[in-house]
Amino acid sequence: MRELKNYIGGSFLPASSGALLENRAPATGEVIATIPASGASEIDAAVAAGRAALAGPWGRSTVAERADLLDAIADGIARRADELAALESLDTGKPVALARNMDIARAVANFRFFAGAVRHDETGCHEMADAINYTQRRPLGVVGLITPWNLPLYLLSWKAAPALACGNAVVAKPSELTPLTASALAEVIHGVDLPAGTFNLVHGLGAEAGAALVSHPGVAGISFTGGTSTGAQVGAAASAGFKKLSLELGGKNATVVFADADPAITLPGVLRASFTNQGQVCLCGSRILVERRYLESFLSRFRTAVEALTLGDPSDPGTELGSLISAAHREKVEHYVALARAEGGTIVTGGSRPAMQGSLAGGAFYRPTVITGLPIDSRVAQEEIFGPVVTVHPFDTEEEAVALANGVPYGLAASVWTRDLTRAHRVAGALDVGMVWVNTWLKRDLRVPFGGVKASGVGREGGAHSLAFYTHDKNVCIAL
Ligand code: NAD
Repeated sequence: MRELKNYIGGSFLPASSGALLENRAPATGEVIATIPASGASEIDAAVAAGRAALAGPWGRSTVAERADLLDAIADGIARRADELAALESLDTGKPVALARNMDIARAVANFRFFAGAVRHDETGCHEMADAINYTQRRPLGVVGLITPWNLPLYLLSWKAAPALACGNAVVAKPSELTPLTASALAEVIHGVDLPAGTFNLVHGLGAEAGAALVSHPGVAGISFTGGTSTGAQVGAAASAGFKKLSLELGGKNATVVFADADPAITLPGVLRASFTNQGQVCLCGSRILVERRYLESFLSRFRTAVEALTLGDPSDPGTELGSLISAAHREKVEHYVALARAEGGTIVTGGSRPAMQGSLAGGAFYRPTVITGLPIDSRVAQEEIFGPVVTVHPFDTEEEAVALANGVPYGLAASVWTRDLTRAHRVAGALDVGMVWVNTWLKRDLRVPFGGVKASGVGREGGAHSLAFYTHDKNVCIAL
């Protein structure tokens, strides 16, 4: 049982009220930690610590110094990688192999990548006949980073690394459901001599600590990743204070499978896109659109592959599917499966809880579920479920596939599976999303723009986009 603390001004502190929130392991339902139930006063203290750091040595730090510190943080995470993978798996219910190979590996890569990116960053110079302009890049100040539970350290590091690289002070508010690796990151940062107050961590509920951070007048920018309805509230509150804002929100992504797709890569690829992290990745393809003449053959092979997935104890290195994030989230998923039945859908596989033994009997497990026969405009095919549930829909023409893929309020990502290169280009160009993968899924180069359109968010992260977000450009014009 861990008693986690906030990390403010270089010290690990409890909430001033002493109030605590319980944190449960979703695979067992057991309480594994408590976190401070922080609110406005802890956010005030963290923002003040951030401002003090900016007024002190951190405000005078050079790019080279900051890049070296990011590399040191990457080293610190890498040294504790096995322990952090175990913590992430315990906290989220995700398979430990996924936590090790994806979440923690990416956290290391994020700090290393942005150390390199900021070392190589350049600013512009615009010459006139009688003057010269040059651009200075300045940190925003204190920035608030708000992150969800599905990829806790992966997403926190994706924001903290560029924010620190650019010279900002950070106040991070991780999901109250998954606080463990955020606290471990604070310990790593504590060990690398970042000036006190540069990185602050405040645990607590979104409506309390999160809302206080978003509306704090001393915060210059908010980078938020989470659900679309929360994003709307965050956007309204941040805009009222004229804060720079990045919103990475929900998705209802299409996986578009043409009959000429290579089954050897398509089946494993679609399986990954459907069920990685129990379907709890914003980029998961939860609507599989299949060319009608390939539908039957695809479905029978897909079903076999889904039923072969190893669901079990997240701490077992051989487990492919773990627990959902919470009992409450499983109920939400179950509600959608019941709705699918009511809407006339056929459950091809899954649609129930697996029988788990021993301590796992109290876990939030759910079988990977494939549903056919639903109208494309049904709620189950339109709303983000964020669990191990996919719906499969036939299409006859390329135009129809594009129309079905675009026919949702979201616009985050899509994947297209075909051997026809010209069609791949056409369809990729016509999809109303921020990211398209062709014959692959979730292949990530950290330099490329990451983000969505429509209800999936505003702004882009990644490479130069992140460096641009966490800075403001100032032009200096000198008459010659
Ligand atoms: P959520 O919106 O419930 O919570 C996200 C974070 O916001 C948490 O830290 C929470 O405490 C905080 N929060 C809640 N209310 C707040 C408020 N009023 N003010 C400030 N902060 C508040 O999301 P979740 O359930 O943790 O995560 C799942 C969602 O995240 C899904 O919709 C998923 O698609 C989305 N997501 C998007 C991306 C992306 O990059 N687009 C990545 C991962 C997850």
